[in-house]
Amino acid sequence: MVYLHVPFCRSFCTYCSFYSETCSKSRQDTLFSEYAGAVVRETEERSEEIRNNPFRTIYIGGGTPSVLPLDVLSRIVSGIRNAQDGEPLREFTIEVNPEDIVEKGEEYVAGLLSLGVSRISMGIQSFDDGILRWMNRRHDSERAVRAYSIIRRTAQEARKDVDVSIDLIFGLSQLDENTWDRTLTSALALGRDEGFRAPDHISAYQLSIEEGSALEEMAARGDYSEASEDVCARQYSVLCSRLKEAGYGHYEVSNFALPGHEAVHNSAYWTRIPYVGLGPGAHSLTVLQTAEGRREIRSWNTQVLPGRGMEAYTREVEELSPEDVRIERIMLALRTAAGIGESDLRSLAGEGNVDSFLKDGLLERKGNGCLRIPESHFFVSDEIIRELV
Ligand code: SF4
Repeated sequence: MVYLHVPFCRSFCTYCSFYSETCSKSRQDTLFSEYAGAVVRETEERSEEIRNNPFRTIYIGGGTPSVLPLDVLSRIVSGIRNAQDGEPLREFTIEVNPEDIVEKGEEYVAGLLSLGVSRISMGIQSFDDGILRWMNRRHDSERAVRAYSIIRRTAQEARKDVDVSIDLIFGLSQLDENTWDRTLTSALALGRDEGFRAPDHISAYQLSIEEGSALEEMAARGDYSEASEDVCARQYSVLCSRLKEAGYGHYEVSNFALPGHEAVHNSAYWTRIPYVGLGPGAHSLTVLQTAEGRREIRSWNTQVLPGRGMEAYTREVEELSPEDVRIERIMLALRTAAGIGESDLRSLAGEGNVDSFLKDGLLERKGNGCLRIPESHFFVSDEIIRELV
């Protein structure tokens, strides 16, 4: 399982606090080539770790991976594929920005598909142009629809099957119920006019004020106040019912998929399969089987400071304590509809705790020996998990 972090964006979105650097078109050639060189070096240094990871997926996220030209992507991907011994991939996802897809067109999408991309995740976020401007997104709703159509048309012409996932955001204080409902209608109508299928996968996140984001400053100045929990809960409930009606399974708190189109890489991450994170700012999880037992190591590449070369990133390492592992296992598993084995949860969270949560309806039995949070309580899953751990 390989994650590649692409730390470049053309501009910063209001709500975002991810590690990324803006790259102007005039500086990009030098930056991208330094970046590719550094990632290829890291891939070579960690080739054994990549080869020994049996779960064959690639996920390119960011930042905005679609700012990278095809030749830069191709250089990086062939390094990763070499380290994976060219074995068939279970999934290869890349995150894209709708504006890049419209600007670069079918040739770019065809190039992605020939690199082996099997899943494209597009950050649409909203179909309301006022909200998109407030978010400081580069695209508008019309460009999002065009980008979707370019991806589907290119895949059809190339006779390649590609899954398309889109991201949406709810819970903004200026998002009223009608606008949210129209956004969901537009999302579900993508591709319909041209006879293409709707998105295979939809991720929907509640807006939060992240430390270091422009939104945090706006809120501090009094220029933004958060939507109430009631409003967010209503929007989440509309989201769940609209997507259920349209045939999507709700397989994780923020993720919905048509049957058989669940994200393989993300699902593996939720079950804590080890992963190798490449590129500045990327995290990795390594599991070592030693004579003393299982050891889990979290490591992360440093984020490159502006003005320093991309080759400057290094890796920091921390061994997870049994308590860290216990909490993480509960947290990740209970955000999914698959849940967690009842005996595992009893040993991780305590018999009494589990019994009382079952009695209060905050956990339910799935019928295959697993327990999960009922979908009707997904909206408050973080609170339930906090209480349980
Ligand atoms: S949301 Fe995506 S495109 Fe926007 S600043 Fe963050 S990483 Fe960049």
